Amino acid sequence: MTFSPARLVDRRALVTGGSRGIGRAIVERFAAEGATVAINYASREEEARTALEAARAASRDAGYGERPHLITRADMSDLSAVDAMLKSVIDALGRLDILVNNAGIQQELAGDSPDPKGLEHVLGVNLVGAVHCSQLAIRHFLSRKGGGAIINTSSVHQIIPKPGFIGYSVSKGGLANLTRTLALEFADRGIRVNAVAPGAILTDMNDSWRNDPKKKADVERHIPMGRAGTPEEMAAVFAFLASDDASYITGQTIFACGGLTLFGDFKHNWST
Ligand code: NAP
Repeated sequence: MTFSPARLVDRRALVTGGSRGIGRAIVERFAAEGATVAINYASREEEARTALEAARAASRDAGYGERPHLITRADMSDLSAVDAMLKSVIDALGRLDILVNNAGIQQELAGDSPDPKGLEHVLGVNLVGAVHCSQLAIRHFLSRKGGGAIINTSSVHQIIPKPGFIGYSVSKGGLANLTRTLALEFADRGIRVNAVAPGAILTDMNDSWRNDPKKKADVERHIPMGRAGTPEEMAAVFAFLASDDASYITGQTIFACGGLTLFGDFKHNWST
């Protein structure tokens, strides 16, 4: 196992969409740095149980013994389920110090094909659930000493348009303002709100290309660093932002994307 600093000892964290992909890597990294983690999922309980076992192993391997990590089912687009989840997680863990709004779905939605249900669903999971969960967490942070940290999983599509995916693009643009607005509102009360914006990461979300060498090479051709990223590379950034190493950082989005936001087409001077 790679070395992880002990920056989250005794912190209690909730990671939405923590059962697979980037969320699961965050869960393992937080556990390896000393945190106790509640792992949210929507439907695949088996995957959540596997993530729970991985978190337990990460705590043990890092010398923290048996930590009371838990799994918690809630569809982030169902706000009453989110209410119940926050209450049960805080009851079980004793308090909450870190919220990671990571649950997300990516669905095609063309700009000229209105689909109210599809739009409501993607915005509900990716954005509205995150707003509501943040408000609940902040109310809790303010109710006891110690402040808190929120980290939102955004995307390079926070700033790079994604034609054909209007709901996804709007949701990630919304997360940028969620991050900045809450950061400003609570900056003087010990609460930091930041975001990580991944590029192309090797998770189930990219099953359309990640296991096909030709399609993968086509994707990686567009990435200045020449390769897709790993969930573990994302988790390292979340752990930094959750920790006191980032104690003077709020309202920021870190683009962890291998240079995707550097406008790679401009590397060779075609415009002069
Ligand atoms: P993933 O591998 O598909 O995992 C998605 C996770 O979200 C799973 O734990 C899933 O749980 C959970 N989830 C899905 N719908 C949910 C809902 N309605 N309520 C609660 N949880 C739900 O995705 P990923 O690639 O790790 O993506 C994680 C985040 O990173 C997303 O916000 C995504 O937009 C963002 N992101 C990913 C990439 C990338 O290239 N992968 C790039 C930029 C941004 P179940 O299995 O139970 O459904």
